[in-house]
Amino acid sequence: MAEQTTQKRRCALVTGGSRGIGRAICEELAQAGFDIAIVYAGNEEAARETAAQVEKLGASARIYRCDVADAETATACAEQVLADFGGVWALVNNAGITRDTLLARMREDDFDRVIDVNLKGAYHMTRALTRSFMRQRGGRIVNMSSIVGLMGNAGQANYAASKAGLIGLTKACARELASRGVTVNAIAPGFIETDMTGQLGDAVCERYEQQIPLGRLGQAQEVAKLVAFLVSDSAAYITGEVIRIDGGMAM
Ligand code: NAP
Repeated sequence: MAEQTTQKRRCALVTGGSRGIGRAICEELAQAGFDIAIVYAGNEEAARETAAQVEKLGASARIYRCDVADAETATACAEQVLADFGGVWALVNNAGITRDTLLARMREDDFDRVIDVNLKGAYHMTRALTRSFMRQRGGRIVNMSSIVGLMGNAGQANYAASKAGLIGLTKACARELASRGVTVNAIAPGFIETDMTGQLGDAVCERYEQQIPLGRLGQAQEVAKLVAFLVSDSAAYITGEVIRIDGGMAM
């Protein structure tokens, strides 16, 4: 008779898991055998919908309302996830916002808020889980950067700075955690169809499409499949890397 294995399922914590790219990541990782901790800012209905999709795929899901920009809240959230799931194998720092305008008009609070959510949010969640990652001697961290962090973009000084900062954070953490078998990588998507790019309007999207060699915007699921690869055992020898997924836009 075949021996029954009762291997514990791994948990993935996905910030910004309620919508867009984050939701696609939750679904893809559920399909890959992970249980999912979904962190969201305030859209509970969307978070519940993601959780329902994850459960349909046979995985467990829990939702956590948390502003990742707030150090105390983010730390408490990470600790709650550890308590609920007994560990986190993969942390996906995906939560992000934009507050676009030209630099001359950019208010300091809009600059700070974007840095606080996009960059400090990843720092808060990573710091809160670092000891656990080191103890378990393995794991995966994926930070959602952007090609805007590599190329810059007019009207997005705050966003570009936050996404470039994430690349530095990724490489520093990759060096710190490598000896414990934890890999840390960044993904730099181009223009992906979500609520974030939906705000731009058809004319702007068409202009961007003309700058994309593959001639179309990307899909959230395409980014999610890359995350699934990076958190898999097959990606054990990749760390400190920034992978563009942009239809060739930033090459
Ligand atoms: P989206 O559709 O606007 O979704 C944003 C997600 O982040 C939501 O789940 C939102 O939660 C969550 N969130 C926002 N502020 C938060 C906070 N303070 N604390 C915790 N969660 C927060 O965005 P998206 O297009 O999927 O983008 C996801 C990531 O990919 C972002 O980091 C973005 O910068 C990056 N990216 C996107 C593109 C693109 O073209 N779409 C390109 C490059 C990089 P609620 O639902 O509760 O509001």
